Amino acid sequence: MALIVQKYGGTSVGNPERIRNVAKRLLETQREGNSVVAIVSAMSGVTDSLIKLAKEVSPKPTEREMDVLLSTGEQTTMALAAMAIQAMGGKAVSLTGAQAGIVTNGIHTKAKISNITPDQIRKHLERDEIVIIAGFQGETEEGDITTLGRGGSDLTAIAVASAIGADICQIFTDVDGVYTCDPRIVPSAKKIQEISYDEMLEMASSGSKVMQSRSVEFAKKFGVIFEVRSSFNNNPGTIVKEETAGMEQVVVRGVSVERNQAKVTVAHVPDKPGCAARLFTALADAHVMVDVIVQNVSESGSTDISFTMNRDELDKIGDLVDRVAAEIGAGKVTKQGGIAKLSVVGIGMRTHSGVAAKLFEALAKGGINIQMISTSEIKIAVILDEEKITDAAKLAHAAFDLDVV
Ligand code: ADP
Ligand code: ASP
Ligand code: MG
Repeated sequence: MALIVQKYGGTSVGNPERIRNVAKRLLETQREGNSVVAIVSAMSGVTDSLIKLAKEVSPKPTEREMDVLLSTGEQTTMALAAMAIQAMGGKAVSLTGAQAGIVTNGIHTKAKISNITPDQIRKHLERDEIVIIAGFQGETEEGDITTLGRGGSDLTAIAVASAIGADICQIFTDVDGVYTCDPRIVPSAKKIQEISYDEMLEMASSGSKVMQSRSVEFAKKFGVIFEVRSSFNNNPGTIVKEETAGMEQVVVRGVSVERNQAKVTVAHVPDKPGCAARLFTALADAHVMVDVIVQNVSESGSTDISFTMNRDELDKIGDLVDRVAAEIGAGKVTKQGGIAKLSVVGIGMRTHSGVAAKLFEALAKGGINIQMISTSEIKIAVILDEEKITDAAKLAHAAFDLDVV
């Protein structure tokens, strides 16, 4: 008998029939002799509609109230899933994040889990009930509802699996596992059987939203091995775990794409200590997540600094960069949307050379211009014109033989 945590994402619970399908799967898992905890997301599209609804009543809703609102999406699903199981003759109980003992800090809309006291979960499991927990939400010490950032039900699943010492943690979604690239972008992408935490983390944080990146970070920290698989069939999925000796033989594990980026260039920044600090401190103070940064070599006492960020972040900061540029005596500020990032990821890069050259060559052959480059030990990322991103992903995917099993 095993203790199993299963998470079902938005598409998997997207309508009543799919909720009944999830209920059936949970019951089957229990009837095989296991104790079952399910984490459920809001039905697909619900979180987005709630955000839209909020904007219709207030231009700038407070984050506390956003959390109260958004948490209702998952609460709807948890009750419906429990009812569906009961209607099939099974025993089930639904728990909110707070009832499940999930305590977070008070950073509304992107709260961090500080601890989980799973007493209620254990009590219901002892009564042979299937425990359905609302994903994506928790509660502060003061009793305020919080949410864990978009895609946060993944984090609930990993954290609950860790807290109750689950034997198995399965993330059920609408694809068969983690693929070498998003199959919606590169149809010839292949399912990856095993991937290391570090690779999954790099892919997730560079646009492969099949897993929320914070959930992968958590899994790595607490050694939670998990499987990503489909709720629509019984195919084995992708196992995400600590790296093993053989994993380094694969140079590139996958390709990630991040659309909707923007590039800002500040020209003629005085080439003296403190200027870059002033600029990026102002951005940090405004909670802007800056991604790739490039500074050109200066010959004439000034330098150009370019950086990228999410397009929505750029819209939020207004003329902040222009103001700082004026203060530090820099020149023109250019802002450009329509930018995207392509990343190739693999722990094999640590021991193989020529990866960057191969990527650049593949893009050059396709006539695709690279605007910026950034690298880490296991990733090479390039900034491109958004219009070219699908072609670029296909070229990179083919160059590293990822469509060949
Ligand atoms: P859920 O609602 O189950 O959490 P998500 O929409 O968050 O599902 O994640 C699943 C989606 O992630 C897939 O439909 C797929 O389009 C996308 N995706 C992006 N990158 C990848 C990848 N490398 N492998 C598999 N799916 C990916
Ligand atoms: N419902 C939330 C979202 O859409 C959380 C999740 O599905 O994981 O982001
Ligand atoms: Mg998701």
